[in-house]
Amino acid sequence: MLKPGFRTGEKMLDSWVKGKSNGNVVKNGNAGAAHPLVTGDTDKRTVVWVGDVPIGGIDAVVLAGPCSVESREQVTATALAVRLSGAVILRGGAYKPRTSPYDFQGLGVEGLKLLREAGDAAGMPVVTEIMSEEDVDVVCDHADMLQVGARNMQNFALLKKLAKTGKPILFKRGPSATVKEWLSAAEYLLHGGNENVVLCERGIKTFDHSLRNTLDLAGVALVKEMTHLPVVVDPSHATGKRSLISATAKAAVAVGADGVIVEVHPEPEKAWSDGAQSLTFELFSEMMRNLQAPLRAIYSEREQFAVV
Ligand code: PEP
Ligand code: MN
Repeated sequence: MLKPGFRTGEKMLDSWVKGKSNGNVVKNGNAGAAHPLVTGDTDKRTVVWVGDVPIGGIDAVVLAGPCSVESREQVTATALAVRLSGAVILRGGAYKPRTSPYDFQGLGVEGLKLLREAGDAAGMPVVTEIMSEEDVDVVCDHADMLQVGARNMQNFALLKKLAKTGKPILFKRGPSATVKEWLSAAEYLLHGGNENVVLCERGIKTFDHSLRNTLDLAGVALVKEMTHLPVVVDPSHATGKRSLISATAKAAVAVGADGVIVEVHPEPEKAWSDGAQSLTFELFSEMMRNLQAPLRAIYSEREQFAVV
């Protein structure tokens, strides 16, 4: 299932710490850089295992679920529906970073329990956002993967604590972060001993407000080239618009993303957060079908003269 030459987390860090770095690190002049562990030895791709699911292996993976966990019925129905369509990891927020304090803040521990229950019912590992240092233990107890949200990308105290957990981390790019800032922040996790890091591009702020954010697909191709870490794309937060999720998810896979994370809700118009960008079950299954389709053929007039 894995490409030959792949390694799992610890090996590279080990060799770095013991001073027998792979050569690439020093050769590329990265030794004194801001993120040598993240960018070193890109030939050996890191595979991050979330439960029994490999991210960064040969196949792209789909993570899906509601923006917020709202109730047992809502999260369980969503888990079963997305699993049936081919998702392999369930997402769902129990601690929500909302722009306004008057917006729904998440169900907290109750939400974690419901998410775990739904993941178990559907046979999927679960990922959920961690917002605060004080919640690390309880979130680790309930989730298989921890999401560092865009707003916390440079919460260094949180990153140092997460480095010690060894748990897989879904590491989102900050809305206004450069690639260098993103990778340097990820370096905190590797430097602290946790190489189970999956980078996630979720759209950045630009001059254009036609969409919620601007999806930096070239940035995805760039970090795939610069780092050995898996990279996934979140077209839901990147666009904020349901009708664009399928096309942008497909584009993400086309530029080399190792997966996509998508918001899905049984009744998006009633969602307590991010309804406008959430897919219905039907649209999700349509997106999954579109992801299977081959890319469009390229017509080349020369082909007819190619045979001698
Ligand atoms: C989310 O995943 O629901 C979320 C809040 O994401 P982001 O941190 O990318 O805004
Ligand atoms: Mn959301």
